Amino acid sequence: TYQQIAALEPKVEAYLEIDAQRAVALEAAKAADERGYGEDAPLLNGIPIAVKDNIVTQNLRTTAASKMLENFVPTYDATTVERLKAAGAVIVGKLNLDEFAMGGSNEKSAFKVTHNPWNLNKVPGGSSGASAATVAARQVPASLGTDTGGSIRQPASYNGVVGIKPTYGSVSRFGLIAFGSSLDTIGPMTLTVEDNALVLEAIAGYDEKDSTSLQDIDTNYSAKIGQSLAGMKIAFPKEFKSEEINEEVREAMEAAADFYRSEGAIVEEVSLPYSKYGVDVYYIIASAEASSNLQRFDGIRYGHRSEAAESLEDVYVLSRSEAFGDEVKRRIMLGTYSLSSGAYDAFFDKAARVRTLIRQDFDKVFAEYDVIMGPVTTSTAFDIGGRVNNPLEMYVADLLTIPVNLIGAPAISVPAGFDSEKLPIGLQLIGKPLDEATLYQVAHAYE
Ligand code: GLN
Repeated sequence: TYQQIAALEPKVEAYLEIDAQRAVALEAAKAADERGYGEDAPLLNGIPIAVKDNIVTQNLRTTAASKMLENFVPTYDATTVERLKAAGAVIVGKLNLDEFAMGGSNEKSAFKVTHNPWNLNKVPGGSSGASAATVAARQVPASLGTDTGGSIRQPASYNGVVGIKPTYGSVSRFGLIAFGSSLDTIGPMTLTVEDNALVLEAIAGYDEKDSTSLQDIDTNYSAKIGQSLAGMKIAFPKEFKSEEINEEVREAMEAAADFYRSEGAIVEEVSLPYSKYGVDVYYIIASAEASSNLQRFDGIRYGHRSEAAESLEDVYVLSRSEAFGDEVKRRIMLGTYSLSSGAYDAFFDKAARVRTLIRQDFDKVFAEYDVIMGPVTTSTAFDIGGRVNNPLEMYVADLLTIPVNLIGAPAISVPAGFDSEKLPIGLQLIGKPLDEATLYQVAHAYE
């Protein structure tokens, strides 16, 4: 692991913290060796795993790629990290992201830009771009990412790895630095579908420290891997075949649909008419929730405090002005506006209502079908610098991933070949809430 990290890190630049963890990681690896790798070894014994830097780690700096938290060393582990350690995994370091997970390219990190290992001039996607890139570069076999509007699936697709956004509430958010609390999820990114299911088994399940955590869920996610797809009903929405989607991506999806038919599945066209409003709804709701969640960074309790402040108001205003990046400020302003008394009815309330219509679309399809398929993104990885100054173009890129966060369902990105530039294409499979096992079954078949 460390050899591969040393060899490729100068090119990929995935890590925000690695050296500070080395002694602890080697110690944990030694303990794993002592436990042995027999039948009764813990599920992930000795497996090196890296963690996105908006998930807190005890005694290991956690920045969310923001100057606000540049020197923040948490005193506790997030539940997901605690569970990885309990399963025997070795935490090797912390991964770059767009600041506070707001973005889709890793270019919005306050510290560095991560590169796509398939072509170093391309973005790895985001916000979990480094979580995908480090797996694609074979630096680690697995990582944790987070997905609020597509941030696990989009980079998984751009880097040719497997990434799942689990059902909202199935993985604890305790210790995740909150962005949009009704949308945020944590999930694994891996090289294979089976590895993905096993890491999810280790981190999922009820946690009393997260008030939205679901009780008594079945976490036997790998149960159906390898089972036949005969008779499985797969919906392919016509909105996922639209002109906005690059032709090579569309062809790759048709090939996947043909494959599933050849395996005995029934693939039929359906419609999700309200999903086209997903991006609009998402940027209102996610920004509103972000503006509220980010209030805690006030320069008083922890985080950056301006040296220039001479009054209490200065402490708030200057600390926040100095430490938040442009994208984060944009979200705070958008969110504060849509929650304000004059704009609430026209924006936040309306967005919440349209969110229900989007959910009803999906409910109708899931009454008849087991899984929904389509692309993860409208194109493959774009050039570094290509969209960074055009927030609208960046926002629309999440067209196909965002509706799933709005409804809370699980969705997986699985590699589906390459385009003519040799950049990976991702197939997205969306499942019924809590039916990750079927997603892994269908994803595994296409691997
Ligand atoms: N790209 C989306 C955004 O900028 C999604 C981010 C995410 O899922 N964390 O909000």
